[in-house]
Amino acid sequence: MDGFEILDSRFAAMILPNAPLEVLGDNFRWLEGPVWFADHQLLLFSDIPNNRIMRWTGAGISTFRTPAHFSNGQTRDRQGRLITCSHQTRCVIRTELDGRITVLADRFEGHRLNSPNDVIVKSDNSIWFTDPLYGINTDYEGGKQPSELPPRLYRLDEDGRLGIAADDFDGPNGLCFSPDETRLYVTESGEQFAAEPRRCIRLYEVADDGVMLRRGRDFYGISPGFADGIRCDEDGNIWSSAGDGVHCISPDGTLLGKIFVPSTVSNIAFGGRNFSRLFICGGQFLYAIYTNVRGAARP
Ligand code: MG
Repeated sequence: MDGFEILDSRFAAMILPNAPLEVLGDNFRWLEGPVWFADHQLLLFSDIPNNRIMRWTGAGISTFRTPAHFSNGQTRDRQGRLITCSHQTRCVIRTELDGRITVLADRFEGHRLNSPNDVIVKSDNSIWFTDPLYGINTDYEGGKQPSELPPRLYRLDEDGRLGIAADDFDGPNGLCFSPDETRLYVTESGEQFAAEPRRCIRLYEVADDGVMLRRGRDFYGISPGFADGIRCDEDGNIWSSAGDGVHCISPDGTLLGKIFVPSTVSNIAFGGRNFSRLFICGGQFLYAIYTNVRGAARP
């Protein structure tokens, strides 16, 4: 079947063979941070080296915010507010409903964060984000600046307290909870200029208190390429960015199948009318494809 690879019969029911991979936009530099607004039927996404956040609607693409401080990952909280990771200003910000910007986190124990990369919100309103060095390693994606903290995963509680959720990373990147929030998947994309960077999707069990993580382990190694952004569908399968497109992995760690994309994929987001259209950030292109699954979290 053109455009797909079915490695497990379960995947056949998850895709639509007659649904094409559509190019929604091009002439970007490096896309990331897709977030769906069901209430407006629009997608926001970051064009990092162009220092702008873009907006896709069925009517076309326009600029949502520029300069955007080299924004990367984005999500929405339970109140519908946009949460954005900012490389250049080394912080996580919230865009209030009236348009004002609130800095949610920019320091830990007095030291500046590195360059928050991707962010999700849990049902208890806690905000979880990764903080690798990628945005301060180059001027292209934010601006060369010295690091003050190790790469980590942080949890920002509803009361504003910032804590270390996990620190066993060289380059923590994308993240998503399983639909029941008993598991947290975090991609490790390694040290940026290392000859053999450590790269895999890591899996943590969320303790019964809903706060602590335990038993972190390597879950799945994407190839070719590596996992950057990831999303779960409502059945708990993990959809991951990869060098040759989007890979779908079952919760037991089996590669079920692939959607081939002609450029390296950095991040994905479910959206569309039934939350079953997969929006794909692939290098200089924004793609979309209708699937036969629905995304897990509906911001
Ligand atoms: Mg990322």
